[in-house]
Amino acid sequence: DTTVYYDDDADSSYLDDKTVAVIGYGSQGHAHSQNLAESGVDVVVGLRKSSSSRQAAKDDGLRVATPATAADEADIVSVLVPDTVQPAVFEEIKGSLEPGDTLQFAHGFNIHYNQIQPPEDVDVTMVAPKSPGHLVRRNYENDQGTPGLLAIYQDVTGEAKEEGLAYAKAIGCTRAGVIETTFREETETDLFGEQAVLCGGATALVKEGYETLVDAGYSPEMAYFECLNELKLIVDLMYEGGLSNMWDSVSDTAEYGGLSRGDDIIDEHVRENMEAMLEDVQDGTFAREWINENQAGRPSYTQLKHAEETHHIEEVGEPLRDLFAWADEEEEAAEAAADD
Ligand code: NDP
Ligand code: MG
Ligand code: MG
Repeated sequence: DTTVYYDDDADSSYLDDKTVAVIGYGSQGHAHSQNLAESGVDVVVGLRKSSSSRQAAKDDGLRVATPATAADEADIVSVLVPDTVQPAVFEEIKGSLEPGDTLQFAHGFNIHYNQIQPPEDVDVTMVAPKSPGHLVRRNYENDQGTPGLLAIYQDVTGEAKEEGLAYAKAIGCTRAGVIETTFREETETDLFGEQAVLCGGATALVKEGYETLVDAGYSPEMAYFECLNELKLIVDLMYEGGLSNMWDSVSDTAEYGGLSRGDDIIDEHVRENMEAMLEDVQDGTFAREWINENQAGRPSYTQLKHAEETHHIEEVGEPLRDLFAWADEEEEAAEAAADD
């Protein structure tokens, strides 16, 4: 059974008299720094001298130093720069890690695929909010929490888990619930999910559906609404109450059509493709490809990104989304009211 940790399971005193260096002030970095500081933890933000985020961190009332100086001061070094630059940034800070310090992450890629080899005498932990940073921050300000994951890769002090839970509490994660996992499980499920289902699978499904309708002579605008725009409504229903909630909300015709036809679209070949994709994640094939791609200056990435940006559905969608701008404005107004 999976254990879920809440505020009562976390003891904030494990962060007493400790300094946390947050390296990076982007999506996760700004949220962790500000939430930690407001929870009474001593925080120093580590940023390179040329960093465009330095001023933002200072304006938010935080102390800023170079990554190496921040790590020198700190007992816990939270590495929150992009995954692809973490190995280079680690080279700058590793000399600042003292025995018993903690190296802390929000994603397991570099540790799991050996792109960062931590010293043997430090704790290595992961506290990973399951949400973009701006929500981690906004939820905290609204006395709400953000669900998160906790994983311990190396525990030399015997206190890695307690300290990790205290960190999770300070950024607001134990208000919502923290699940314990491993670096391997977090990394592999994260990569598989974004490739097969969330980012890769969903966009491919949308494009195939759109192209099928347009190639059959239907109007691109109709195809856009059916295959892309309405997906949000369906996903919202699943998010709110699971698959049954969605099926209960659509018409009986939609329900029968979907239940009887879905498996013909996502058939056994898709399952085979998914299993092959998972194997590439598990045996490091994908990780090696992505690391090489970055070392080569991202040639394939650039090409794929360009092809996606110039897909017909993108041209068709832009003016149509403007028609729906009123819906976004209403949603923003509702969110602003809820924030007050
Ligand atoms: P961001 O892309 O938002 O990080 C940007 C920050 O990193 C900036 O402060 C930037 O400063 C700094 N930075 C960028 N390049 C360099 C460099 N070469 N050297 C030094 N600093 C650099 O990262 P995220 O917050 O998205 O991701 C951080 C970690 O959190 C990752 O491990 C990610 O997987 C994980 N994570 C992210 C989530 C998300 O939703 N974004 C969700 C959960 C986990 P500068 O001005 O100097 O460029
Ligand atoms: Mg130190
Ligand atoms: Mg992800």
